Amino acid sequence: MIAAFDIPVTRVGRSKLNDIPLENIPFGKYFTDHMLEADYADGEWKNVSIKPYQPLQLDPSLAALHYGQAIFEGIKAYKDDKGNAFVFRPIENYKRFNKSAARMNMPEVPEEIFMEGMRKLISIDKNWIPGGKDHSLYIRPFMFSTDTMLGVRPSETYKFLIILSPTGPYFAAPMKIVVEEAYTRAAPGGVGFSKNAGNYGGSMLAATTAKQEGYDQVLWTDAFEHKWLQEVGMMNVFFMINGVAVTPSLEEGTILAGVTRDSVITMLREMGIPVEERRISIDELLDAYGKGQLKEVFGTGTAAVIALIKELKYKEFIMQFDVNNAPVAMAVKQRLADIREGKTADIHQWMWPV
Ligand SMILES: *Cc1c(COP(=O)(O)O)cnc(C)c1O
Repeated sequence: MIAAFDIPVTRVGRSKLNDIPLENIPFGKYFTDHMLEADYADGEWKNVSIKPYQPLQLDPSLAALHYGQAIFEGIKAYKDDKGNAFVFRPIENYKRFNKSAARMNMPEVPEEIFMEGMRKLISIDKNWIPGGKDHSLYIRPFMFSTDTMLGVRPSETYKFLIILSPTGPYFAAPMKIVVEEAYTRAAPGGVGFSKNAGNYGGSMLAATTAKQEGYDQVLWTDAFEHKWLQEVGMMNVFFMINGVAVTPSLEEGTILAGVTRDSVITMLREMGIPVEERRISIDELLDAYGKGQLKEVFGTGTAAVIALIKELKYKEFIMQFDVNNAPVAMAVKQRLADIREGKTADIHQWMWPV
């Protein structure tokens, strides 16, 4: 694998683990004992260390707070019956992280810092991986600019961190979704394909507006015609039309290339279900729904894995789906769980041993 690379570790005096109940833990609320931190300055990464989880001291003029060079990833680690820890496809997140970095004019993080740092951090905090079904350890690598000056230019200094958060089963209740026609998440040439903090900041008002109308999230549409479908909230989206799984394609750069999306496409094909990655419009959906051909709609992402959609609203049209009869979404969800739990052969080597 990666050449031995010695990251200095300062351990906590006393673990917080006993103070936190590892059952039904809410998502992203508690953090483990340690974190990884590294600094970028003078054109290189330095000060890589693992230390007790602690607040950062930051200057008020910190560039990231003003100009938004900030990116992140979301990954999950699991523990098997024998206590071995595995991470789900972290290499894909590593590659995507550096794509986000390139788009945001930030330095790439070397593989040994990202991957080896993550491995070492998880092994130190291994007892924090909850063992219960569908429990996991959520891994949050992130990077932000740290120059302390208000001139607008790419920062010359950055911080990279990894923090870990034990999380219970993310109960994704079937969602009610409204097709977004006013706000835009991403346009060609923009930053929609990168996992940068601003994409989330820019999406919150749309989600809040949807909630005020009784909906959980929005289905994003293209910036020009508000008719080509992109993503559902912060998840990729799949439509089962006439036995074919259709999902918006990536080439316009307006969609995040989800690792779950890629895994779902692979599994669907293995299950003999045809997949089409292409442009899909709201008109096509309405038409298929009218003909009784649109059977399932679901979102995919690391946090919820598969989230069923029970209602989709577009203008005055309301499409409803029977979430108790969503065989494709359920089969994919089960197959992914089986791979995670070692019940199905991990033929693609998705589970990365820590
Ligand atoms: C993270 C993210 C996803 C899901 O990606 P996964 O790799 O499957 O977790 C989808 N859409 C957006 C906008 C995201 O930020």
